[in-house]
Amino acid sequence: MTKTPTEAPPDADARRQVVPVICYPNDTLHVPPLDQYRAARDTAQATDHTRIPPRQARCFHVTAGSFFRITCPDGAQVGDLNLFAARNLDERFFSGKTRALHGSHVGIGNRLWSCLPYLRPMATITEDTLSWYGQDEFGGRVHDVIGTRCDPYTHHLLTGQDYHNTCHSNLTRALAAEMGMPLTEAEGHIHDVLNVFMCTGFTRDTGQYFMKTSPARAGDYIEFFAEIDLLGVLSACPGGDCGAEHSSDAATCHPLEVTVYAPKAGQLDGWYAPSYNRYSRRHAPE
Ligand SMILES: [Zn+2]
Repeated sequence: MTKTPTEAPPDADARRQVVPVICYPNDTLHVPPLDQYRAARDTAQATDHTRIPPRQARCFHVTAGSFFRITCPDGAQVGDLNLFAARNLDERFFSGKTRALHGSHVGIGNRLWSCLPYLRPMATITEDTLSWYGQDEFGGRVHDVIGTRCDPYTHHLLTGQDYHNTCHSNLTRALAAEMGMPLTEAEGHIHDVLNVFMCTGFTRDTGQYFMKTSPARAGDYIEFFAEIDLLGVLSACPGGDCGAEHSSDAATCHPLEVTVYAPKAGQLDGWYAPSYNRYSRRHAPE
């Protein structure tokens, strides 16, 4: 379905030629101390391991000051990641503002931000074996914060069919099991994701969201430093490498793995978990 254009005004070209400005210049953001994180990581040992079966999701916990690594152990597999503050499900990952601050795809040094009114870093990306990918000739990049998540409602809207292993439903089932809450309650907490290992962009002609086969191979990983205590939920997308389709059992799917690493005591001296955003919350002048 294409958009219907209206007749252009006489100064259309002049209006189009206005030079854009960045919405959120981010050079005033606190720069994460990656060298300190890496030095701490060098001392860290694995403390927990979670395997996510294909077309399923699982929860995992990470203590502030620890690291978690998401790996494709067997082959290219897209993962849909939700993050919560461990003791407050109201504070959740804010994919839209993360996109506004860091761009459509995230990489080393970028933060994953929590929703309003908290708006603080939940995690910092410290390693990414796909950082070499950059941008391809189609405008595709890896690890996006634009794709929301595959869900059964959009699938039904477009096909009239029910499919129960979309990432939205996988995340819902995993959170319900973890929290001991009904599916309908858990569903309300599921939010837009970070698409790990997914290669996506927007078409230049129609501006439509596209995906293409993930460049990941067995052993590729992305690693994060947990800035606060986290509850993570990760779905192994039914789209597999997302090279053809999602929201069905047609694609080849692989598992994902999450490994938590805790550094030795004393390695993070001077570092402290970020506090909530300091806006006054008055929402009106005095
Ligand atoms: Zn998915």
